Amino acid sequence: MDTRSRYLQEMGITQWVRRDAGFHPAPGIGAAQDLNTDANDLIQNDQLLADLLTQVETCRQCDLYRTRYMPVFGVGPVPANLMIVGEAPSAEDDRQGIPFVGRVGQLLDAMLLSIGFRREDVYVANALKCRPPDDRDPFAEELTHCNPFLLQQIERIQPKVILALGKAAVQSLLDTNESLDQLRNTGPAREVAGVSVIATYHPAYLLQSPGAKSESWKDLYRARQLLINGSSS
Ligand code: SF4
Repeated sequence: MDTRSRYLQEMGITQWVRRDAGFHPAPGIGAAQDLNTDANDLIQNDQLLADLLTQVETCRQCDLYRTRYMPVFGVGPVPANLMIVGEAPSAEDDRQGIPFVGRVGQLLDAMLLSIGFRREDVYVANALKCRPPDDRDPFAEELTHCNPFLLQQIERIQPKVILALGKAAVQSLLDTNESLDQLRNTGPAREVAGVSVIATYHPAYLLQSPGAKSESWKDLYRARQLLINGSSS
């Protein structure tokens, strides 16, 4: 079984496999970067992001700075066609300073590969830069305080599509209280700062509810279509 087929299978998709299909990168893939590099090294050459990181490191806008081990800013190429926005750092992310590490990160890798992207080709960040205690859901006021950092990242990364993982991520991006199911796969893609936003389930949820993987794959496919055609149909 080839690499892409293996990841499609992991996503619960078997009917899409072509026998002659190898790994086909999505269009516009950027330069690969080593995820083992210290997260801060990845942005040292971008002054705007470096300044933004300094602001995040010294931020006291909400109480999460008191309990985090370190802020988790974001990693990836600049610019990047595809940007991933999750909800908040996990305990493992908090220790390493890198978003989406561990099992959740492995599933994110599988999700990306199912539509032809490698992790190192996309920019990955969270709506919240600091981990909520005990991995509770983010509070609305925390998301509000942290949102300007995310918007400045988007401005700098200049993605064509944002894939928002989980309710808090998409609600923060679109400034709405609508449910994730209302925001998933319904009508034309909504936009933030002129960038199309596709909402889907967070990989942490998919680990607990693997039956939702095939639904999530529809959202991923929609994101890929937007990147290729400029249309999700
Ligand atoms: S979560 Fe965001 S707003 Fe809150 S302290 Fe961290 S960087 Fe500041």
